[in-house]
Amino acid sequence: MPDTATCARLRPCPFCGTEPAHAIEIDVGTWAVPCDACRSIGPLADDERRAAELWNARPEA
Ligand SMILES: [Zn+2]
Repeated sequence: MPDTATCARLRPCPFCGTEPAHAIEIDVGTWAVPCDACRSIGPLADDERRAAELWNARPEA
């Protein structure tokens, strides 16, 4: 599964410190960054880029 060119670097998960790979489409037209390590999920957004931005905008734990 190739990485797309849209990938801005994601900050580590605020809960467990794991760096998520990328945002995924969790529902039709709804994107978010999931953490596979602790099962948390970032803010929902309309597209992959925005989901990544919202994830990165969250305060550090
Ligand atoms: Zn995590």
